[in-house]
Amino acid sequence: MSELHKFLFEGLPVRGMLVRVTEGWAEVLRRRAAGSPAGAYPLPVQNFLGEMVAAACLMQANIKFNGALILQIFGDGPVKLAVAEVQPDFALRATASLSAPVLPGASLSAMVNLNNLGKCAITLDPKERFPGQQPYQGVVPLFGDRREKLEQLSGVLEHYMLQSEQLDTRLVLAADGDVAAGLLIQRLPLEGAGNLGGEAARLANEDESGLNEHYNRIALLASSLKREELLTLDAQTILRRLFWQEDLRIFPAVSGEAVPHFACTCGRERVANMILGLGRDEAQSILAERGDVEVGCEFCGLQYRFDPIDVAALFLGAGDLPVSGGPVQ
Ligand SMILES: [Zn+2]
Repeated sequence: MSELHKFLFEGLPVRGMLVRVTEGWAEVLRRRAAGSPAGAYPLPVQNFLGEMVAAACLMQANIKFNGALILQIFGDGPVKLAVAEVQPDFALRATASLSAPVLPGASLSAMVNLNNLGKCAITLDPKERFPGQQPYQGVVPLFGDRREKLEQLSGVLEHYMLQSEQLDTRLVLAADGDVAAGLLIQRLPLEGAGNLGGEAARLANEDESGLNEHYNRIALLASSLKREELLTLDAQTILRRLFWQEDLRIFPAVSGEAVPHFACTCGRERVANMILGLGRDEAQSILAERGDVEVGCEFCGLQYRFDPIDVAALFLGAGDLPVSGGPVQ
């Protein structure tokens, strides 16, 4: 069962989240294996993309924002692009595109940062935009403070959180063919710490190193979480094992509709707009070559087919989209 839990450490300016995506993640992989001409992901790509899915869920849960959180890695190695997108209701989708084979056991840098040009982008795309409003995007390179290549996605995102949000964050991520899971521990900014009890208010006036100490201890405990534990144990067991000495307050688990689940936001109308974006000449030349314009969704594998009549209608500016040639599985 997919699960997402939020918790905080009573009286301390530290909060956390734990996510385990099972069915939703399996669906991403099933569709890729069944629907993509490229076939199933090589193991290192699968596990990396799963970590991205878990991280995107944690980051979406970590913000109050009515829109999609999109985590993208622009690679300069065999993996050109990897995307994990999570909506406010935790509908998620993910895909990766490869331009060359990925060797078994390939490291993160061998996949996406071969020539030091790999980048990670986090985009917040609001559901309802004001006219002219652009989505917010933050971009970080795949390097640490000493220009060392980062070999863990968690390290890249910890870096991002510190740079862009000034938030100390510890992330533990893991994925395999069945589960995409992650643990996030974060130090709360003091001024925004309205949910803290008396002790934190007292500590707020003390030397900040006192607070660092609490955060550092909890972050260290989080780091001791093993990949196997994160992948195989349920959330309650993980939290109990890690933080049994801490005064942990676990909020009621996210349930029902808002549990992370697979869903794709693609649609025939979007593809129609894409074809319009190509321009009439380009669309005609595709029609001349192939007989129709067929566009597959890389996230869910649906194929959208536009025959010459559909395309002609598009460029005539027909108000209603043609109904023929709907998505075929
Ligand atoms: Zn789709």
